[in-house]
Order: sequence, then C-alpha cells, then structure tokens
Amino acid sequence: TNGATAAANTMDTFQMKDLSTMEGSDTQLHLIDEDKQFSGELANFIQHKWHLNDAGFNYHLAAVFGSQSTGKSTLLNRLFGTHFDVMSESARRQTTKGIWISRGKGMRVLVMDVEGTDGRERGEDQDFERKSALFSLATSEVLIVNMWEHQVGLYNGANMGLLKTVFEVNLQLFGGNRGKEKTLLFFVIRDHVGATPLTNLANTLLADLDRIWQSLSKPEGLEDCRITDYFAFDFTALPHKLLQPEKFEEEVGKLRLRFSSPSDPEYVFQPPYSKRIPADGLHIYASGIWEKIMTNKDLDLPTQQELLAQFRCDEIANVAFGQFFEAIKSFRHTIEAGTVINELGSVVKKARDEAMISFDKDASRYHSEVYKRKRVELLNKLHSTLEPYFVGQLKNLHKAALALCTTQLQQAFSRKDDSQAIDFSVVSKKAKDEALDLFITGAKAIRLDQTEWEYEEEQFQLERDLLELANQQREKELTKMLTLLEKHLKREMDEPIKLALDQPGPNMWGRVIDTYKTTLDEAQVMLRKKSQVFDLEEEKLTLMEENLRRQAWVLMTMKVQEESIEGLIVYKLLNRFEEQFQRDERGLPRVWKPSDDIDAPFRKARNEDPLTGTKFVLESTDDFDFEQSLKVLSETRQQEIGNQLRRKADATFVEAKRSIVATQAK
Ligand code: GDP
Ligand code: MG
Repeated sequence: TNGATAAANTMDTFQMKDLSTMEGSDTQLHLIDEDKQFSGELANFIQHKWHLNDAGFNYHLAAVFGSQSTGKSTLLNRLFGTHFDVMSESARRQTTKGIWISRGKGMRVLVMDVEGTDGRERGEDQDFERKSALFSLATSEVLIVNMWEHQVGLYNGANMGLLKTVFEVNLQLFGGNRGKEKTLLFFVIRDHVGATPLTNLANTLLADLDRIWQSLSKPEGLEDCRITDYFAFDFTALPHKLLQPEKFEEEVGKLRLRFSSPSDPEYVFQPPYSKRIPADGLHIYASGIWEKIMTNKDLDLPTQQELLAQFRCDEIANVAFGQFFEAIKSFRHTIEAGTVINELGSVVKKARDEAMISFDKDASRYHSEVYKRKRVELLNKLHSTLEPYFVGQLKNLHKAALALCTTQLQQAFSRKDDSQAIDFSVVSKKAKDEALDLFITGAKAIRLDQTEWEYEEEQFQLERDLLELANQQREKELTKMLTLLEKHLKREMDEPIKLALDQPGPNMWGRVIDTYKTTLDEAQVMLRKKSQVFDLEEEKLTLMEENLRRQAWVLMTMKVQEESIEGLIVYKLLNRFEEQFQRDERGLPRVWKPSDDIDAPFRKARNEDPLTGTKFVLESTDDFDFEQSLKVLSETRQQEIGNQLRRKADATFVEAKRSIVATQAK
C-alpha cells in the first residue's frame, strides 16, 4: 500500500510541477473566482489559447460536480489532459474555490472544474452550490457527478442534497423546454471495490434520484413531468486510485475514449445534449447567465439565447459591414467625380454577397428569429449604403449617354462627303437609340437583385433630354446652313450689283433687281435641297424661305447703299454723263464742231433716267419696312447730288462751247 501511495504521490507532484512548464499550464482560466467574479478573459482564451472561435457548434462543454476532495480534478486531468489544481496528498491544501475552465488536450471539448460546490461538508451556505449548479446546467452538455462508492445509497448525504439542487434549478431553467433539451448526468463512482456490481449501484442511484424528483415541488403545469424529460443518465465506476493504480489508469484510459473519440460507440457528447451556443458567442452567453444568476433575476434560457443572438448578430453584422465598406469605399470618389465605372455592378454585387455570406456563416447559428431579423437589417443597411452608388452611376450614365449622342450627331453633320446625303430623322434616331442603349445597359448592370432600385424615372428624363439635344443640334446645324446661304447670297450679288450701279444707264435698276431675283431663286433651291436632311415641317420651311428672301433683300439694299455713298454716286453719274455727252455712238471722244448741236445731246445726257426700261414688281413682306428700304437716297441728298451733277455737267457744257470758240478762233 505504501508503495502505491508513493507512486501516486510522485505522479501528483509531477503534475504540480508540470503546471509551470507545460504548454497547457496557461490554458486554464479561473472563469469564476472565489469572489464570484466572472472573468473578462473568456473570449480571449476561446480565440487565442483554445482556438475554438470558429468552431461554431462543433465543440462540447462538460462540467464536474461532487464533494470536496473526491478526486474530481484528478479525474478531469486524466480524462482531458488538463492541468487543474489537484490537492496534494501531503499538504492537504484547499484548492481555490470557484469554477475553472480549460480545453481538453487535442479535443474540441471545454471542461469546467467546479470547486467548492459542496457547502454542506464545510458547513458553508449553499449559495455557491446553487449558483454553480445553475451555471453548469445552463451551459454544459454533460455534468459529471463524481462520488465515492460509499456515498451511493446515502439518500440524505451531501451528494443527494447537491442533486436535489441540480434538479430544482433545472426545472427553473428548462421547465418549459420539456423533452427538447436534455443534460447528461454522468455518474463516476470512485474507489469502486467491486463487491457491488455497477448495475446495482446504478439502480440504487436511479431509485434515489427518482425519490428526489418526486419530492420536488414542480412548477404549475409540469406536475407530471418526469426526470427523464430533462435528463439522461450514465454510470461508470473506477477502481481505487491508490490501491489499484494500474487498474485505475487502465479504466480511466478507457473512459477517456468515451469523452474524446466521437467514433466511440459510447461517445458521451450526443446531439440532444447540446446547448446550441456557438463558440464565438460562448463568452457573452456565459457571462450573461452568470450576471443573471448573481442578481437573482429569473433565468430564462430562451430569453438569454435571444439576447445572445442579438448581441452576436450585431457584432457579426458589424464585421461583415466593415469588410463590405472597405471593398466599395474607393469607388465613391470616382463616382462623385462623374466617371462611369463599368465593373461597378459586379463589384457592388460581390461586396454585398460576400458580406451576407460572411454574416450567414457565423450568425445563422444563433436564435433563428433573431438571426432572420438581423439579416434583413444588415441587408437593408448594405443596400442603403449602396444606393448612392447606384444613383451616382445612373447620373453619370445619363451624362455619358448625352455626350455620346452629341458626338454622334456632330459627326454625322460634319461629314464632308455631300454625296451621301444624311437624313436627320435617321441620324438622330440612331444617335438617340445608341445613347439610350448605353444608359439602359449600364443601368441594368448596376441594378441589384433583392432591391427595389429603379432607373425608369432617370431613363424617362434621359429620353426627354436626348430629344431636346437632338433638336438643339438641329437648330445649330440649321443656323450653320443659313449662315452659309447668306454668305453665298452676298458673294453672288455683290459683284453684279456693283457692276450695274457703275453703269447708271437705262435699266440699271432692272439689272440690280434681276441679280437679286436670280440669286434669291438659286438660294431658295439650295435651301430646299439642303434642308431636306433636317426633316423640317413645311411651315418651318416656309418661314425660313421668307427669312431668306428678306435676307437677300437686305443684302441687296446694303450693297446699293454701299455703292451710293456721296462722292461715289456723283462720280458714277458724271462718268455716265460724260460718256453720253462726250462720246459718240461708236464710243469715240467727240470733237465739237461749230455746226454741232451741243444743247440737245447735253440735255439728253443730263436727263437720262436709270429707271428707263426697268420693269419689276416687288413684293413686300409684312414685318419690315419695305418702302423705306426702297429709298436709296433722301430727297435732300437727291437734290444735293443733282446740284453737284448739274454744276459739273454745266461746267462740261461750258467747256465744250469754249472748245468750239477756240477752234473757230484759229
Ligand atoms: P477534488 O477536490 O475533488 O478536485 O480532488 P483532487 O483531485 O484534488 O484530489 C484530492 C485528493 O484525492 C488528492 O490527494 C488525490 O491524490 C486523491 N485522489 C485522487 N483520485 C483519487 C481516487 O480515485 N481515490 C482516492 N482514494 N484518492 C484519490
Ligand atoms: Mg479539484
């Protein structure tokens, strides 16, 4: 016996030493300390020490319960490879009160070592016992109940008191959840001598448990509920660790498989025991539960699960949104700068879908109603964040469409090749269609499924703008054409009118008017021809013709005015007079002889009327002063010019007379 004790002691001492050196030594957490404070480190441990943050539901939670110094920590360390504090055989030190938690080595199992649950033994109040029972039941799938063999059958013993507490709080927690969720009570009977077979021990325990159950006062409506509605039971026994150390290790080794190997036929962590708390939410759930327990508030698990779901779904949504925003934010500036981003539709969809996938991955594990609600919230948030992108892109597409239409129209009109006459209605329709197509294709590409985004309003506006644009372009081209025609008119009339006015003889005005008429006729034909492309209404065309006529008239009268300035007109008339008076029929200079009649040719030349032989009818157009435009010279100027001309003509006449006298004198 002594040897065995020594061996066991060595082992325990070895384990104690291990705490400081082994990798696992820092992987246990004092989850709830002796002052009943819940550790703030759980999230950190789950994520960074146990690496279970992404485990979802793929992990398990067990807790051990039982009287002080019944070898609980020893058992856990053997089963899970943990390093919970074990009371030294020699020192008999009390281990720290509270709840310790660690990850099973190489297992997806978290295990809680609940110390000091048994207040009765130490004469303490049972407050902590009750609280830790509540906490363990609310979180764990399997509750290992550890007891000595000699404690079995002691109906009034400390163990049964503990179990009574467990059952009571279980009804409080899961009463309404009858038959849906169960907790496995896994009894480990220690120092099993072997005289009483395990089945007998199990039966004794079951009978005691049932008696306890019967004695409980049940909540209303649950009077007939059975213990098996809430619990599953399993029993195992272990040999005396000190008396049969090899057998003890052997049995513990077998038991270990039941906790560590999912393929074991007697694997303890079965789906119905799961509390369905995703690993990444465990810290919130557990601390929330503990807080409720501490404040003695009603602990109702469905509400706790909902609260957890709300909290976690929000957290998960925020992470998803953050990633989403990173992916799209750089495009905002480009859109605001007015640039169409061709790939925006796919970028936006990808960012949105990835955010939802990321959210679904983690959040879908939580309370389904909450999850669904939060999902809608997130989706709405994503969509409202994206909407300005959609609207901005539409605006830019609108602009791009107008620009395209403008270029198309300008190109069509600026074609030098006249042989291929363009048809405005065809060209403008093509330009408008292409622009509209650019817009609609772009708008469709950015419209996102599951949204109510629409571009019809913008499209309608665009169609109106395109129509206006085409009309404006047409007006511009018309103006250009008219300017050209006007230049043509001027070019064609200036020379002949000048020539006509240089010859102020008979039919001078006739020639001027003829020039006007021929040029105008020509221009009108040109106008008709050129305006074919514009697809004009007859009314508009008539109006343009009228304008052209007026324009021609104005140009003609302006030229006449230009040729009729003071000196010029006198000079021209004098020329004409001299031509008539001083040249004969053959155009040769006259030499007056005394026999010649000077007076008659003089009068004829002086009184010649340029209107002679002129026959034309002028139509007036209403909105301009036609009569006025017919007056080249005012009465006063006519008088003056007449006087000047007469004086000069008289002088010429006098000179002619003198020349005869001179000839006679010789
Ligand atoms: P706990 O307080 O229930 O966690 O118990 P410990 O694991 O700290 O063990 C208390 C003492 O019991 C230690 O000295 C252990 O060596 C000893 N011990 C552990 N397992 C057994 C066992 O199966 N049988 C006996 N008799 N002693 C054990
Ligand atoms: Mg212990």
